Amino acid sequence: MKKFGFMAIMLFVFILAFPHNGQAAAGNAKIYLDDKELTLPGNAKVENVNGNIMIPLRVVGENLGFDVAWEQKTRTVTIKKDSNVIKLVVNQKTADVNGKKVSMDIAPILRTDTVIVPLRFVSEQMGLTVNWDNNKKIVYLYTQDNQSGNGNPGTGAGNGDDATSGTGSAQVNGISFSDNRLMIATTGQAKVNAFKMTGPDRIVVDIQNANFSDTFSSNAPLDQNSMGSLDISGYPDVSKVRYSLYSNNPSTVRVVLDLTRAKNYKLTNENGLYIIDLNTEDSSQPSKPPAGGKGKKIVVIDAGHGGKDPGTTGITGKREKDFTLSMALKVQKLLKQDPNIDVVLTRSNDTFVELSERAKIANDLKADVFVSIHANSAGSSAATGTETYYQRDASKALANTMHKYLVQATGLPDRGVRYGNFHVIRETKMPAVLLEVGYLSNKNDEAALFSDSFQQRVAQGIANGIKDYLGVK
Ligand SMILES: [Zn+2]
Repeated sequence: MKKFGFMAIMLFVFILAFPHNGQAAAGNAKIYLDDKELTLPGNAKVENVNGNIMIPLRVVGENLGFDVAWEQKTRTVTIKKDSNVIKLVVNQKTADVNGKKVSMDIAPILRTDTVIVPLRFVSEQMGLTVNWDNNKKIVYLYTQDNQSGNGNPGTGAGNGDDATSGTGSAQVNGISFSDNRLMIATTGQAKVNAFKMTGPDRIVVDIQNANFSDTFSSNAPLDQNSMGSLDISGYPDVSKVRYSLYSNNPSTVRVVLDLTRAKNYKLTNENGLYIIDLNTEDSSQPSKPPAGGKGKKIVVIDAGHGGKDPGTTGITGKREKDFTLSMALKVQKLLKQDPNIDVVLTRSNDTFVELSERAKIANDLKADVFVSIHANSAGSSAATGTETYYQRDASKALANTMHKYLVQATGLPDRGVRYGNFHVIRETKMPAVLLEVGYLSNKNDEAALFSDSFQQRVAQGIANGIKDYLGVK
């Protein structure tokens, strides 16, 4: 891990408060209002939350001449202009627009000093035309007076006009995936037909007499060929959601759920919101156990960082990702010798693996333990020693056992077993620990961590700790 300082604390706060909010891939996106770039103050940022583009409400509201007020006690944002009053409450999907209840695809989220709301809500309730350019990561907002002004600079723009003049009488307004459910929001008279296909396994949903709405691209990516996809992480059965204008005659939008195995589903329709629910009893075959056969224990070893993410950099420039990989390979070699253990690495070379993917690997395998290996860093070069982190109560016993072996093996100062809200030990479902073997910001620790004999000794300590915890000898 890098500095366990301010950033870590901020991450901690947000991860804790909003555990289901996917990754924010749109981090440095810009917002243009009538072709003028808006200055995003402080921590205000555009975010992509599970495929929904979310924008900071205050900066947009104020630039449109709305009064924006925040009430901390009720966590309510009120924006007012003339006789228009919109009230939004953090984490609530229902907004109040001029006294009327309006539901949102995704609830407003409180960030450091701003509230972010779905772009689609802004377009519908504040009377803006919106475009999201997913390639350039730019949100374009147009007030009604200006939307024909300088033309649409966004690459995803312009689909709407031609497309909606087609034969489709229904509109697909948005697609999202959460809680193992695909949701397709439509208006108008759509004819929806869902079916399974194999080789590879997938669920296909055809929405006939339909086209993508003008605002669809503000909600999910859509390219100039009226195609797009959502990357899905954290759901073992689903790898991707793809969608396209499949046919022009009759105009048909096709949505495909790419699966990792055959799944049953339930299709429901609530006033045009079509839900393909995968949380259904599975009569299909259980997923094959790829590891852990014959009562073997499955151990997942996670080498922190990798590829484009070097982790922290040591006092003489050594990289955390190299240390963690070397350690993971050594632990793997040792555990492989045990006939009662199957060992799986989240990465076995210098590649980048998403945190969610690391947890998914262990969860899919139904692993017995998960051990993530890291090296630490601090602002002061004096910091030295070994820490073991757990996040869930179910991981405490593993943490205590691992720490005992780890400290003995490193011979570095014992900085204790600690609580840490790190993704990989939070999102895994089995006992999981994150080891901070030593401090790369400390000269002595760094030298030790990159010595082969130290690594070998610590790898043995980690392997012994795992075996002790699992009760395999
Ligand atoms: Zn690290």
